[in-house]
Amino acid sequence: MPLSLHNTLTRKKEVFAPIDAKKVRMYVCGPTVYDFAHIGNARPVIVFDVLYRLLRHVYGEAHVRYVRNITDVDDKINAAAKANGENIRDLTERTAKEFHADTKALLCLEPDVEPRATEHIAEMIAMIERLIASGHAYEAEKHVLFSVQADKDYGKLSHRNRDEMIAGARVEVAPYKRDAADFVLWKPSPDDLPGWDSPWGRGRPGWHIECSAMSEKHLGPSFDIHGGGLDLIFPHHENEIAQSECAHGGAPFARYWLHNGFLMVEGAKMSKSEGNFRTIRDVLGEAPGEAARFAMLMGHYRDPLDWTSERLMQAIYGLDRFYMALRGIDAAPAAIPVRVLEALDDDLNTPLAIARLYELLGELNTANTTADKARWAGELRAGGLLLGLLQQDSEAWLQGETIDPNEISDAVVKRLEERDWIDEQIRLRLAARQTKNFAEADRIRTDLALKGIILEDGPKGTTWRRAG
Ligand SMILES: [Zn+2]
Repeated sequence: MPLSLHNTLTRKKEVFAPIDAKKVRMYVCGPTVYDFAHIGNARPVIVFDVLYRLLRHVYGEAHVRYVRNITDVDDKINAAAKANGENIRDLTERTAKEFHADTKALLCLEPDVEPRATEHIAEMIAMIERLIASGHAYEAEKHVLFSVQADKDYGKLSHRNRDEMIAGARVEVAPYKRDAADFVLWKPSPDDLPGWDSPWGRGRPGWHIECSAMSEKHLGPSFDIHGGGLDLIFPHHENEIAQSECAHGGAPFARYWLHNGFLMVEGAKMSKSEGNFRTIRDVLGEAPGEAARFAMLMGHYRDPLDWTSERLMQAIYGLDRFYMALRGIDAAPAAIPVRVLEALDDDLNTPLAIARLYELLGELNTANTTADKARWAGELRAGGLLLGLLQQDSEAWLQGETIDPNEISDAVVKRLEERDWIDEQIRLRLAARQTKNFAEADRIRTDLALKGIILEDGPKGTTWRRAG
């Protein structure tokens, strides 16, 4: 089954065919480094890490180039540095380092290139000069603006009409703009803000031109996949397309546009005032990174995802079950199971891929011989690989050794204690049944049920799961 991906540009699921199968190219918009990344920022990082792993599997590791930028010049950065009383460079360096620690904890591979905006100012200036020369941009009062009227294709990604675009972009109405929808490519910088010399005076780039210049430098004018969150479709990605295609004489920019859905927290839009704002670091204090990753992949990337503590606990218990089953088994080497691959080939259907991992878990748990156990354990490990899951040593997971002891949260300690307690209850119930004390056995079962723990008696003994 070939890889199919939903393309925002055509609003259809399409079979993926790279421009050059020996050089598959993907660009994903990275973080603006002014503060700890929030859990919503983790979603594209994890989703496109799975796609990167899948592309490397299909085309070979040497034939995939993944670029994810770091935006280290931005008005939000300037404002945060001022608020902290911190040097701008110190702030961006510190925040980029924290972001890397977060992505590592979430078990994401590093991109092949991680360009920084401040290291590509010359490329941005050159692209802006080309846009002015081709009549797609103009200088006005030390600003350079992109002329939306000069681009007949403008709006093709977001499928919006002009009024919606102006409303959606919340564009500043400035007297020097020819059209309200025109957006900034370059703007003047006062002496106390970061700035670079340019043909239009000392200034700094607009956000959109950064990605156009960095993707051109590292992937060329046309490449295969461009990804990011749904909130970036307009205006950011629409503007990237306009800049890049107009600067390249109309050559198509990215061919497949992929967008992950919104993330809510505890049923509501995340906001500091709602009290449901969670950084990745907060989440890593509640659970191991693998559990956060698993929780994220339990939802399909295009669907909205509600980040709840229940989802996180479900992920932790799920991983407990997998690692319990893998405990003490020498997994036989295995190819990626077809059933897992098929799920991911279908527009990165990670919930289905996870369901397939549970099928493999069922096979492993009912296997009778050492050889069968080794075989199913091997398939399970191989299936987990593309999702970036189930690669740890079982004991390390079960004992929580991979977590920094200083960072083990109460929730993790609680679940470890609770699991031991449930195992003990199951043993006591079995003992009661063996002595025909059925009243006591029933009492234990009911007691657990009241706590949301369901016991299931099978040929292999008693297992448990959470209710619902
Ligand atoms: Zn971007």
